[in-house]
Amino acid sequence: MQTKFGFTLMDTGEFESYISDLMVARTIVTLQQHHTYSPNYALFTGDNHFELQRGMRNYHVNSNGWNDIGQHFTIFPDGTVMTGRSIEKSPACIVGQNSNAICIENLGNFDTGGDAMRKEQASAIISATAVICLKFNIPVTTERVVYHHWFRLSDGVRNNGSGGNKSCPGTAFFGGNKVADCESNFLPLVEKVLGGQTNINSNIILKYVSVTARSLNIRTKPDSSSEKAPDRAPATLGAILRVYKIRNGWYKISGSQNHWVAANYTKDVYRATVNADVLNVRNQPSARALKVSELREGEEAFIYEERDGWCRISPEQKWVNKTFLTTT
Ligand SMILES: [Zn+2]
Repeated sequence: MQTKFGFTLMDTGEFESYISDLMVARTIVTLQQHHTYSPNYALFTGDNHFELQRGMRNYHVNSNGWNDIGQHFTIFPDGTVMTGRSIEKSPACIVGQNSNAICIENLGNFDTGGDAMRKEQASAIISATAVICLKFNIPVTTERVVYHHWFRLSDGVRNNGSGGNKSCPGTAFFGGNKVADCESNFLPLVEKVLGGQTNINSNIILKYVSVTARSLNIRTKPDSSSEKAPDRAPATLGAILRVYKIRNGWYKISGSQNHWVAANYTKDVYRATVNADVLNVRNQPSARALKVSELREGEEAFIYEERDGWCRISPEQKWVNKTFLTTT
């Protein structure tokens, strides 16, 4: 372990103990992966880690006007890891997505045709990700381990790279920078390092979805040719499912059993509870619309759509005034 210019350089073993000993007050929910693009491999001489890190800090402070280097950690081509911004501070890495994040910058340009990532660096990225996920109880999923490419550059809205995005961490980063690439190439490597240790995460609900098919088969693996779950009937249109894991376009809908559904036949919904004594449900988003039913205080509702201060709480036309819902 070496320290210079206020930064500490570690090998992966030292990094593991460093992370496990850390006391962090800030809530950490996501882990971001980036590439530096510049500096790239050509500027790394094998012994100028501190100078490169200082150069990035100077650029972030003097050119970008930030109060410190943007990232928490930099991982170098030789597999060493260097501290950057204090982990108690939000990083400056993805607009709108920094407040509960840890930011890793991987030194190099990992766009196709750029730097060929060295083995030492690849294994350091995998192990640093695993160690951070374990420490902060971050599920190893593409909801929580994220690439810069998945967020629109202008406002940080997650669009999974569909337009107006940086290529970061590179179009060739572990075989690609898309969500599906991360799910099939990168996350399995992280899970392999963690072995059985990720079980602590298996009961965290990532989100809720509603079934959009008339009947949706529940399978034993994230694969349409796998067996149907013998102990669970197909889910029906409008059923609300909890999502515990996401793999290659499939959702694991049980914390304890291998029950999977194809994500294509679902729609994301948001859970809310009623905060009024009685809440009228109407057939249109208007106080003058016909009342079709009512909900009582504390009852659960799932929001499908919002319009002009009204929320649709069913696949059908059932609307309630948003003021009387508390989202959770
Ligand atoms: Zn980035």
